[in-house]
Amino acid sequence: MNLTDYSEIRALLARHGFRFSKSLGQNFLTAAWVPERIAEAAGLDEQTGVLEVGPGVGCLTEQLSLRAGKVLAVELDKALKPVLAETLAGRDNVEILFGDVLKQDLPALVREKFPGLRPVICANLPYNVTTPLLTAFLEAGCFETVTVMIQREVARRICAGPGTADYGAFGLFVQWHCETELLFDVPPSCFVPQPKVTSSVIRLTRRAEKPFFAEDEALLFRCIRAAFNQRRKTLPNALSAGVPGLSRERAEQLLTELGFDPRIRGEAVDLAGFVKISNKVFGDLSAKK
Ligand code: SAM
Repeated sequence: MNLTDYSEIRALLARHGFRFSKSLGQNFLTAAWVPERIAEAAGLDEQTGVLEVGPGVGCLTEQLSLRAGKVLAVELDKALKPVLAETLAGRDNVEILFGDVLKQDLPALVREKFPGLRPVICANLPYNVTTPLLTAFLEAGCFETVTVMIQREVARRICAGPGTADYGAFGLFVQWHCETELLFDVPPSCFVPQPKVTSSVIRLTRRAEKPFFAEDEALLFRCIRAAFNQRRKTLPNALSAGVPGLSRERAEQLLTELGFDPRIRGEAVDLAGFVKISNKVFGDLSAKK
């Protein structure tokens, strides 16, 4: 069966009485080049264990199984059980787990399902939960790469640098953990039902070491979130509003000592700059204790 052929998918889903769920972000691929190119970009071989989120009818799963040692596909919609039993029959290196990927203990799952394999993620993600999913993947700390299709707008934010409208706290969080690459765009016409937005495929490669030394990672991200929560405020104002114990005057003084113009806004500060600022704030708050 051709798992990206629109009429074949429609007949298959109708036979199983399947209805698309918007709340589960169900937009299935109907262009063969897309799952092929995504799987190709994931850099798989016999030594790789791939976690896929949301196999749908299994078109990407099939491509992953042709290239990887093992594929574990986690699907929330149990209505796809009989569909996947049919479409992936005979694919011995594929295991399907029915459940919510956000409720899984990912490091434990990797240890159990991928012994001796290099764990990676490859998926066409449900767009409504992109941020919690990527956060969970990065915080799990066990995936070498994450190659995923997401909304283009979110992809741009993840890969953005300072001084651009797309630059923000979530991009900095991802860049702290990974090298980011924006690979290619996929138009709405490649899906059924068609999403309203263009999609992009990105690849995140986990850094062996963090790019800079942060005294306190939680404080670094508190400073970053504070800076972008109040995007239009100057940094001393934004930091004092978001970091308990730091006054506006003290924030201004610390920024000046670091050589920043105190009228600067968060969107002009790069990751190295935020690390310097949060380390300085850390020293200042620790001295007060
Ligand atoms: N991989 C298929 C494709 O490319 O055609 C389907 C991708 S579709 C964008 C997203 C899939 O994720 C759907 O099958 C949906 O049921 C599933 N899904 C949504 N939320 C999920 C969750 N929390 N855990 C696991 N699967 C989920």
